[in-house]
Amino acid sequence: MDIEELPGVGAATAEKLREAGYKTVEAIAVAHPAELKEAAGLGEGTAIKVIAAARDSLQMGFMTGIEVLEKRKTMRKISTGSSALDGLLGGGIETQAITEFFGEFGSGKTQICHQLVVNVQLPEEEGGLGKNALYIDTENTFRPERVIQMAEAKGLKPEEALENIVVARAYNSDHQMLLVEKAEEVIREKGIGLVIVDSLTSHFRSDYTGRGMLSDRQQKLNRHMHALQRLSDIHNLAVVVTNQVMMRPDFFFGDPTAPIGGHVVAHASTFRVYLRKSKGGKRVARLIDSPNLPEGEAIFTVVKEGIKD
Ligand code: ATP
Ligand code: MG
Repeated sequence: MDIEELPGVGAATAEKLREAGYKTVEAIAVAHPAELKEAAGLGEGTAIKVIAAARDSLQMGFMTGIEVLEKRKTMRKISTGSSALDGLLGGGIETQAITEFFGEFGSGKTQICHQLVVNVQLPEEEGGLGKNALYIDTENTFRPERVIQMAEAKGLKPEEALENIVVARAYNSDHQMLLVEKAEEVIREKGIGLVIVDSLTSHFRSDYTGRGMLSDRQQKLNRHMHALQRLSDIHNLAVVVTNQVMMRPDFFFGDPTAPIGGHVVAHASTFRVYLRKSKGGKRVARLIDSPNLPEGEAIFTVVKEGIKD
C-alpha cells in the first residue's frame, strides 16, 4: 500500500512525508504525532489522523500472545565470535532489539562492532544473517584494514566484505539523528541486517554541555533511540550502540563509573553489556538488566583475527 492511499494524505502531503523519510505506511504507523508535525510540517490534528489511519490499515495496536510469539520467531541472532559472549547474550546479538555495549576506552566496544559487521554477512549456520551492515561512525574509528583482517579470518573475501558495509560518518548529534531517520532507503536497497552506532553518545555529550542543556539532550537522545528501535522492529534487524562511561565523583563504593545517557539510554536498550579490561589482554563482559536472561559475566579476547573466547 502506498502512503497516498491513506485517507487524508494527498499528493502534496505524501511528498512532504517522503522527503522527511516517512516512505511507507509502516514508518508512519509507528511515528509519533510530534515527529510528523516537525518533520513533515503537518498540523497536529492531521498528524494524529494520518497515524491512526496507517495503524488501522496495518491492523496494528493489539496483538495476541500467539502473534507476539510468531513475531519473536522471526527474530535472528548474530554471533559475536566468542561463544562465551554469545552464551551470555542467549546465543548472540538479537534482531528486533537494541544492544548497548558500554565501558571505558579500549574496553573493546569498537572491536566488537567491527566483528559484527563481518559476522552479519555469514550464512545463518555460521552465526550470521547473510545480510549487510550499516555503520554510523561518530568518532572516525571505523577501520577497513581491521575489517579485512577479520573477514579473512572468517573465510570471506575481504573486498566483498567491505563492499557489504555502508559507512556513514556523523559530524554532530543532529547529523547522526538525521542519518538514522533517513536510513530506511539504504536499509531496503542494501539488505541491511545490522545497524551500528559507534558511539551513540559522544556527539550528544559534546553538543549539549552544561546543566541547562541536559533536558534538551535527553529529549533528543530519546527521539534518536526511538528511531533506532523502530528500524529494528520494522526491518527485523539488530541495532548495536556503544556508550562510554563517566566518573561519578559522588560515588564511594563499588564501581565509580556510569554509562552516559542516563535513564533514556538505559530504558531504550534491550540488552546492556558492560565491558571492562582485565589481565593479559582479556575483556570481561557483564550483562545488565535483560528482559529474559540472567545477569552474568563472560570473558573474551581481542586478537588479530577478531573477537574470540
Ligand atoms: P573507546 O571508548 O576509546 O572508543 P573502545 O572500547 O571502542 O574504546 P576498542 O577500540 O574497541 O576500544 O579497543 C581497542 C583495543 O583493541 C586495543 O587497545 C587493543 O587492545 C585491541 N586491538 C585493536 N586492534 C587489534 C588487533 N589488530 N589485534 C589485537 N588487538 C587489537
Ligand atoms: Mg571505540
